[in-house]
Amino acid sequence: MQKRLSLLLCSPLLALAAMPVAADEPVDVVLIGGGIMSATLGTYLQELEPEWDIHLYERLDQVAQESSNAWNNAGSGHSAFMEMNYTPDASGRVEIQRAINVTEQFEVSRQFWAHQVENGILGEPSSFINSVPHIAVVWGDEDVNFLRERYDAMTQNPLYAGMEYSEDRAELAEWMPLVMEGRENDDRPVAATRMQMGTEVNYGAQAREMVEALTRSDNFTLGLSSEVRDLTRNDDDTWQVTIANLESGEETTVDARYVFIGAGGAALPLLQASGIPEAKAYAGFPVGGQFLYTTNPDVVSQHDVKAYGKAGEGSPPMSVPHLDLRNLDGEPALFFGPFATFSSKFLKEGSWTDLFGSMTLDNTWPMVEVGLDNFNLVSYLVGQVLMSDDDRFEALQEYYPNANRDDWELWTAGQRVQIIKNNPERGGVLQFGTEVVTSQDGTMSALLGASPGASTAPSIMLNLLDRVFPTQVASDEWQSTLTEIIPSYGQKLAENAELLSDVRAYTAETLQLDEPMNLPAESVEQSDVQDEAEAASEPSQEAAEPSEAEPSTTEEESITEA
Ligand SMILES: Cc1cc2nc3c(=O)[nH]c(=O)nc-3n(C[C@H](O)[C@H](O)[C@H](O)COP(=O)(O)OP(=O)(O)OC[C@H]3O[C@@H](n4cnc5c(N)ncnc54)[C@H](O)[C@@H]3O)c2cc1C
Repeated sequence: MQKRLSLLLCSPLLALAAMPVAADEPVDVVLIGGGIMSATLGTYLQELEPEWDIHLYERLDQVAQESSNAWNNAGSGHSAFMEMNYTPDASGRVEIQRAINVTEQFEVSRQFWAHQVENGILGEPSSFINSVPHIAVVWGDEDVNFLRERYDAMTQNPLYAGMEYSEDRAELAEWMPLVMEGRENDDRPVAATRMQMGTEVNYGAQAREMVEALTRSDNFTLGLSSEVRDLTRNDDDTWQVTIANLESGEETTVDARYVFIGAGGAALPLLQASGIPEAKAYAGFPVGGQFLYTTNPDVVSQHDVKAYGKAGEGSPPMSVPHLDLRNLDGEPALFFGPFATFSSKFLKEGSWTDLFGSMTLDNTWPMVEVGLDNFNLVSYLVGQVLMSDDDRFEALQEYYPNANRDDWELWTAGQRVQIIKNNPERGGVLQFGTEVVTSQDGTMSALLGASPGASTAPSIMLNLLDRVFPTQVASDEWQSTLTEIIPSYGQKLAENAELLSDVRAYTAETLQLDEPMNLPAESVEQSDVQDEAEAASEPSQEAAEPSEAEPSTTEEESITEA
């Protein structure tokens, strides 16, 4: 459609730096940042509008080196099977609606990824997703009662059919031997739930594979070592994007009709640089994550699950302790954590000045208010920052009593920048969720916040498409393509057990995952899913509306990570 710029990279060349040259006409879309979010949006757009010129600029010399990299996050396919903070105990009754929303979102992700495998965009499924059972484990009467009630409530919904519950120590020792060994003197009641169909996801591999596939198109341009420094609105309402080549120091500009800021933690300063009034409501608060990890095969081979505990009273969602099997680009490992760290950087490879540079006359007081209102969070962070190596090892022993200290090393993972939003009535409010922010005309958009994380990128980007391209989303063409990508598009799986069963069978087969346990005895042919997809592809106003399965942008939707 538009003039193609000079540089092009294909697969092994993804690691090379490159620099765009100025174009005469604006390109259609500029994606800032080479993480899972930009990779996902670019992949949607290339299928929806193959003729559009898309540019992606990444400041590092490779894509997916920040939070999306497997070493920098916990690799959980968050589907609310094990994350107990999604099912709060509200006045003595376990509330599961938040869990349902997250599970629905993850089912969208599975369908999106399965479609990309079928299209050759994503490669061998085991390179980016594997079945790893998800376990929620608790100790003590109060928490055991909570988990039992949670199990009773969740298993009434088809999304959670197949969930198992046990208080039997021998059975629990089979599920997670490392967690149960060495507790001879611990007579507290213990209980756990297990979902066999949980997953471990390598979001870095996914992002790399998707960007690599994008580069096969003549209409896609990748600029590595290319830092976006400024965003200015042109008179014709396009955007001038200023990019610095970090190797040569040279600066160049590109005009774009639409810009998406997928810069992870650094999204806020870029949004502020764009000058859109919507940016004024936000501030950012960085929290880093550390894990203890081991690659000792004797230890790793004994723990083939992700086991999530319950966060301490008053602790933020990202503090939930868990002992996880990981697949780090082919290398199996166990991660335990997270431990929170504080630094003023917005990216792992960021600058100490990031936080201070983002403070403005509009957002500084809301930040102070959050500090004053969130005593629990402040004391949690102070406690975490003051932890010694002994303290961290003791925390590991609560989940793995027989751990050998020599096996474990400390690893610093990615930075999350939590959103602080100025609410006209409540003042500064800390949010643990993500928020899609768009300019009024939709030409500038950004993803702020850290969670729901990479697990729900396909839903988050569907939400963004609704906001930025409402006319196109409502068109027959986009409706039809979106339904091909996501057979359940616009429908609630929690209310349609048959469709749920079909899409789970289809995604399990395509992604080579364990069969979900709630499927009917007869296996569901892939064509059944396609038939349903075609039937559902008739455009309707309902389908054009953002589906309930898409992520909300509120604090209440926050997800446990790490
Ligand atoms: C400790 C931890 C544990 C987590 N655990 C999980 C989990 O278990 N499951 C889950 O689903 N999610 C998890 N998450 C969240 C998940 O990692 C993120 O939501 C996701 O990776 C964000 O993707 P992104 O593309 O927005 O950002 P990133 O992956 O950070 O990518 C942003 C990119 O933008 C680039 N960039 C920044 N500024 C510029 C600029 N000016 N110009 C050009 N490029 C720029 C950066 O270099 C980077 O490559 C975790 C996060 C952390 C930190």
